[in-house]
Amino acid sequence: MFQKILVANRGEIALRVIAACKELSIATVAVHSVADRDSLHVRAADESVCIGPAAPSGSYLNITSIVAAAEITGADAVHPGYGFLAENAHFAEILEEVGLKWIGPSPDAIRRMGDKSVAKSTVKKVGVATVPGSPGPLESIEDAMNLAEGVGYPVLLKAVAGGGGRGMRVARSDKELAAAFDLATSEAERAFGNGSVYLEKYLAEPRHIEIQIFGDRAGRIVHLGERECSLQRRHQKILEESPSPALTDALRAKMGAAAVAVAKAVDYVGAGTVEFLLDDDGSFYFMEMNTRIQVEHPVTEMVTGLDLVKEQIRVAAGEPLSFGPTPPGDGLGWRPQGHAIEFRINAEDPVTFAPSPGTITTLHLPGGPGVRVDTAAYSGWKIPPYYDSLIAKLIVHGRDREEALSRGRRALELFIVEGVKTTIPLHLRLLDDPDVRRGRVSTKWLERWLKSAPPR
Ligand code: ADP
Repeated sequence: MFQKILVANRGEIALRVIAACKELSIATVAVHSVADRDSLHVRAADESVCIGPAAPSGSYLNITSIVAAAEITGADAVHPGYGFLAENAHFAEILEEVGLKWIGPSPDAIRRMGDKSVAKSTVKKVGVATVPGSPGPLESIEDAMNLAEGVGYPVLLKAVAGGGGRGMRVARSDKELAAAFDLATSEAERAFGNGSVYLEKYLAEPRHIEIQIFGDRAGRIVHLGERECSLQRRHQKILEESPSPALTDALRAKMGAAAVAVAKAVDYVGAGTVEFLLDDDGSFYFMEMNTRIQVEHPVTEMVTGLDLVKEQIRVAAGEPLSFGPTPPGDGLGWRPQGHAIEFRINAEDPVTFAPSPGTITTLHLPGGPGVRVDTAAYSGWKIPPYYDSLIAKLIVHGRDREEALSRGRRALELFIVEGVKTTIPLHLRLLDDPDVRRGRVSTKWLERWLKSAPPR
């Protein structure tokens, strides 16, 4: 087992990884930017190293600084969390070259799944459906128009190197497509350093269903059920839950088996997520695979009782998966129990969604049965304006969906944050909505609701 792990991240996920290390009696090194000197992850770790200025490019994305910090402190492995360098195959390779273990899948698996058009062709080869669209990057506007005619409007242009809900444009006609092609290409070039885009049919009312998978070095790959993340704004997830109210056991088994097949296609090791769009006729299409731990992993932890971060660390150290044996069939690794919901709490205006950085003057976190809060926030903490606005995740677990919903409500009511605006009032309003209560939502639902339900 590792002696010391460097956590190449900040905020709640850095704390989450440190917690897992503590339970495994592994020493920890935090890295931080100058803006994060007073962060809780710095206080929680055994050692800390300042790796650069506030801007992520100079600190949390600065591979040279992070590798130097690991060498100076004598760490033997690096956990990247999510975001920043978590899906950077080059970083993983450099670590392995200097003799540090990377807590994640192989650089080859990251690369093959990170390029969305390579990912789609890999997935098709193992017989899993992908959204109809271009086989590879688009060559020209004419190419795009021919394909759009084939699949039918509306279509979606996506950056080959995209992620985090960015780099996507919808087009409903040839005219819109011509404009969108130029915009999407230049946006992708700016955001990801790669201007390639591809085209997909834009599904009308899909649900976002993702399957958590896990693999070990012995080649065992299982899945841990699904999370539904259909409530999104601008392709950013707001609320996630498991199980999905839309899945039957038969469909769950099919999607689970498909996810395991995708992971097997790239000899996947560690935690990963296979994302699908589920159409209202029950067909599902591979969208992408995230080769890291995800923001919403606690939802799966709550319904399975497993610690996915500890599992990542064990698997990276060469140990077999700690759970099992896998029952025959779809590859479900552990039977989930009850229902879990995660509410993302962002420091944002709940009406305009404008970021609301500043100092948290008062913070009270809810507790009680079935309630978990993952956060690095504390009273008196000044939220820096340089990073994403997620300040906490509230995760509730109940025997069934009804109980989880009412736990969510009472926990949100006692989740008190003063000094900055948060999305807590938005979640409370969502819980009042009959569609949300019945689970009748799609990825388009939230934006429509925001337009039609006047904010209070
Ligand atoms: P990212 O990598 O940026 O997260 P994804 O490919 O995972 O992008 O897509 C994010 C979201 O965009 C999905 O959850 C869904 O809401 C929407 N989306 C993506 N592809 C399609 C599609 N073909 N049709 C309709 N909605 C889509």
